[in-house]
Amino acid sequence: MVLALPPNVILQESTFQFLHSSPKKLFIDGEWVTAKSGETFPTYNPATGEELARVALAGPQDVDRAVQAARAAYAQGVWSKTSGYERGELLWRLADLIDQHADELAELETLDNGKPLRVSRKGDLPAVSRHFRYYAGWASKLEGTTLPVSQADQFVYTLREPVGVVGLIIPWNFPLLMCAWKLAPALACGNTTLLKPAEETPLTALRLGELIQEAGFPAGVVNILTGPGVPTGAAITAHQGIDKVAFTGSTEVGRKVMEAAARSNLKRISLELGGKSPNVIFADADLSIAVKGSLWAAFSTAGQECVAGSRLFVERPIYTELVERISAEAQKLRVGNGFLPKVHLGPLVSDRQLDRVIGYIESGRASGALITTGGKRLGGDLANGYFLEPTIFTYEDDSLSLVQEEIFGPVAAVTPFDSWEELVQRANRTRYGLAAGVWTQNLSTAHRLAQAVKAGTIWVNGYGYFDPAAPFGGYKESGFGREMGKEALELYTQVKTVWVGL
Ligand code: NAP
Ligand code: MG
Repeated sequence: MVLALPPNVILQESTFQFLHSSPKKLFIDGEWVTAKSGETFPTYNPATGEELARVALAGPQDVDRAVQAARAAYAQGVWSKTSGYERGELLWRLADLIDQHADELAELETLDNGKPLRVSRKGDLPAVSRHFRYYAGWASKLEGTTLPVSQADQFVYTLREPVGVVGLIIPWNFPLLMCAWKLAPALACGNTTLLKPAEETPLTALRLGELIQEAGFPAGVVNILTGPGVPTGAAITAHQGIDKVAFTGSTEVGRKVMEAAARSNLKRISLELGGKSPNVIFADADLSIAVKGSLWAAFSTAGQECVAGSRLFVERPIYTELVERISAEAQKLRVGNGFLPKVHLGPLVSDRQLDRVIGYIESGRASGALITTGGKRLGGDLANGYFLEPTIFTYEDDSLSLVQEEIFGPVAAVTPFDSWEELVQRANRTRYGLAAGVWTQNLSTAHRLAQAVKAGTIWVNGYGYFDPAAPFGGYKESGFGREMGKEALELYTQVKTVWVGL
């Protein structure tokens, strides 16, 4: 295989080896197998448009096989009945293996997704192993309670038990990190799992499968099924043998997941969906941090983040200055192949995503919003990849599709505001409620806005912080259920109440 890489970039030998063994197989019942149909699909490098590998396409029969394996492993208790200490030790061992292979995993992530290697290696990878370690700790701390009831002759307590077999369906923007967000708590709680990575970015999930095997997880505890939303994802959401689905992706597909759960076996679901997050700069903000912070809120991961601060509200007295400064900063961002050391933004993940984002830019232009910087696809030696300039619009009309719909690309929309009432009303004028930012030096303004905005996470004088200890999830159509922190244990366990006559 020939890989077009920027000059002087040398990949790990193991990265090459992994890519060479194509087509990649499915991981079912502890073994690597081809799809029953024999079908495969390609995954591409979005920086060059090159095919990286072919990957097995899991159909309903493969999903069914994986469910049987996960059900059998669950029923045999090889995982659910082990002690929390043992589960924790294995999760910790997996975290160690991830750290040992971090260079290779980061390279695969950058090849498949396009994000800068520095971000994959220094941002995503440490967060991945930290997730497994955080939940390794929780595995031995899943407690029930004893309950004082009115009946004196009854002793009542609760048990916290796993849900059973869980399906984990994830998107392409943080491919390996999303595996960790879902696998780590699901496994810590004793469930067995089917993991479906996004069609665009299956590679790191598959390499993780090899490390899961190496760590010594029992067969059937983790099954990895690559393939598109339909048929692979849909077969998971519709399966009667799956007890819960945890999904991260678009609100549109989230609705389908909910419908499929309702139509099949009322499986539990948790949904982390889209966002259109407001980021508010008050006139008293420290602009030396607010400008750059807001730039990154909008553009990190080339804007392909569910929490992207894509609606920027700026208090009128500093509006003109702020628009100038943030536009100037956006022009300094270097867009390019993620393997180049000084690149800030990589490509969009696919040609389809690029077309979608360009569509929003065109509709924004047509509707009268003004572009202060960006707006164009990049050509020259980037012409084969899916690169877009960071783009900033100014607007006044909140009803524009540019302002209401999640774009998932490097496009920010900036608007002035005059009063508190106007700000709160407009910031909440969205079907989404995932996150929000506020920049001010006034403590009471910060806390008041944190309470007034209907969103699951609020950042004050910062943006985009995450940690395994801090719960994360949506209000409104951004979904429900909280991942991370102690809260995620609720998603992957159920409570049993036991009444004992004394
Ligand atoms: P998506 O199209 O909703 O896909 C998400 C996952 O669902 C993918 O694995 C996809 O498979 C699968 N899928 C698609 N159709 C399905 C169906 N009918 N049944 C079951 N599964 C199905 O989202 P995306 O394009 O990958 O990611 C972008 C979106 O995800 C954005 O809207 C963003 O806001 C959201 N997102 C949210 C969060 C969060 O934490 N809230 C995080 C990241 C992204 P294929 O990829 O194989 O089609
Ligand atoms: Mg790819």
